[in-house]
Amino acid sequence: MDMREGPERIFDSVATVAEAVDARAAGAAVLAGGTWIMRDPRRGVALPERIVALSKIAELQRVDVLDDRVSIGAAVTHAGLAQAINGLAGLEGLAAAATGAANPAIRRVATVGGNLCTLDFAAADLVPALLALDAQVELMVADGGRILPISTFLAERAVLLKTALLTRVIVPRAATASAHVRLPLRKAGDYPVAIVSVARASGGAIRVAVGSVEPVARRWTALEDELSGKAVTPEETQALAEKTNDFMGRDGIEAEGWYRREVLPALVRRAFAALQKGGAA
Ligand SMILES: Cc1cc2nc3c(=O)[nH]c(=O)nc-3n(C[C@H](O)[C@H](O)[C@H](O)COP(=O)(O)OP(=O)(O)OC[C@H]3O[C@@H](n4cnc5c(N)ncnc54)[C@H](O)[C@@H]3O)c2cc1C
Repeated sequence: MDMREGPERIFDSVATVAEAVDARAAGAAVLAGGTWIMRDPRRGVALPERIVALSKIAELQRVDVLDDRVSIGAAVTHAGLAQAINGLAGLEGLAAAATGAANPAIRRVATVGGNLCTLDFAAADLVPALLALDAQVELMVADGGRILPISTFLAERAVLLKTALLTRVIVPRAATASAHVRLPLRKAGDYPVAIVSVARASGGAIRVAVGSVEPVARRWTALEDELSGKAVTPEETQALAEKTNDFMGRDGIEAEGWYRREVLPALVRRAFAALQKGGAA
């Protein structure tokens, strides 16, 4: 372990997950790509006194594509993920999320784990894409690891991440097609105002997830129920989305809550049109 101690801060640069977990147990916060954490002082949040960096842990940089699932290391960057899953049937939505988020410089550095673990960031693109694909996350703490559904992780992450290291995201290859559409406003920089991710399972079941509209992304189960067992056109999905729109939009500097909510049905139509074309938006 290479440890440099400054006047105010301890920085651990470790080579293994076990060492990172030990550092966490000793109170270290995680530094992944740093694109979010480095801006904490500008948000009035003090940088942690002790930090463990993940960039030298080879195991966390891997994407393993298997027949039934894809395992994504937490420190894989958006660009790395996009490259690794490019062309994989069923994962078009996740690839679009990794390719469309932020800008090229951020995508080369920002990680999958960082996108999932940033607590106060509603506009994370990978989160709805992974919800639609029914992904799981692997967490490690000093006394062992556990795998849990991403929805459970999102509900409990503020508590879980006080001690845990997110090590992997596991995406089942159960979808035949998926799509991810987002509405950015230029004046809002690169953050999307609203995001809709959809996936179709091999049995025909549809999953829909929405990001950036509420403080935390979630599945749109009322719409999924309406769509169950039906063959519908993209225009019909828009009408069903208008009927089942139960989102409470969050107000933010780039858009008001009502607007985020109102754009959702049109995004649903676009997402289903992309799904019909095999996921290409
Ligand atoms: C200009 C700009 C535009 C952006 N636009 C978009 C966009 O359009 N869409 C989008 O989705 N995102 C966007 N982002 C956000 C960007 O994706 C996040 O900054 C990024 O996902 C955070 O990843 P990171 O690896 O840099 O995390 P870091 O900054 O290193 O960490 C972020 C948080 O997650 C924690 N953390 C990180 N990894 C782990 C782990 N493995 N286990 C436990 N905790 C962990 C850290 O402790 C910290 O609290 C943008 C960012 C910038 C700066």
